[in-house]
Amino acid sequence: MNETWWQAVVNCDQRFDSVFYYGVATTTIFCKPSCRSRDPRQENVRFFHSVDEARNKGFRACKRCKPEEPKWYADTEIAVRINELIDRRYAEPWTLARFGEELHMSPYHVQRMFSRATNTSPAKALLARRLQVARQELLGASDSITDIALAAGFRSGAHFSSVFLKESGCTPSEYRLTHQTRTR
Ligand SMILES: [Zn+2]
Repeated sequence: MNETWWQAVVNCDQRFDSVFYYGVATTTIFCKPSCRSRDPRQENVRFFHSVDEARNKGFRACKRCKPEEPKWYADTEIAVRINELIDRRYAEPWTLARFGEELHMSPYHVQRMFSRATNTSPAKALLARRLQVARQELLGASDSITDIALAAGFRSGAHFSSVFLKESGCTPSEYRLTHQTRTR
C-alpha cells in the first residue's frame, strides 16, 4: 500500500487528481483521489496510474467524480493559472516552490502538469515573459538597463544582459540602439 496515496484518498486531496486513481475491489468502481464518496476500507483499495489501467482491470468510472474526464483538462487548468501569475506578477522572485504554494500543489506536480500542457517549463515561460517586458521597455523608456532589468524581474543588470545576449544575439544596449535607429 502506497501510504502517501492512501492519505490522499482519505483527505480527498485534489492535488493528486490525474496523478493516480483508486478503485474499490468490492464495488469495482474507480475514483479520483478528490472524490467525496465514503472512504473505502483500506484492504479493498486498488491504485491505478491511469483510467485505462483501471478499465483494463474491470473497474467502472464513478458517476460522482467522473474520473474519465480527459487528463489534459487538469493540466491545462494548471498551465492557465501559472501563466496568469507569470503574466501579471513576472517581477516577483518566483521559484517552483512558490508556484506550488500559490496553487496548493507540490513543486513536482506544478512542473509536471505545466510541462505536459505547454511543452515548456514554468521557469522558461517566466523568462520569456520577462524578456518580452524588457524588450518593450528598451524601446519605449529611457530608463537605464539596470532599472529595466530589475523592473522586469531579473536579479541584476549583469544577469539580464547575459540572458538577453544569449536569447537575442545582442546586448540590451545594442538592441535599443539598433531598434531606435530603425524607428527614427
Ligand atoms: Zn468517485
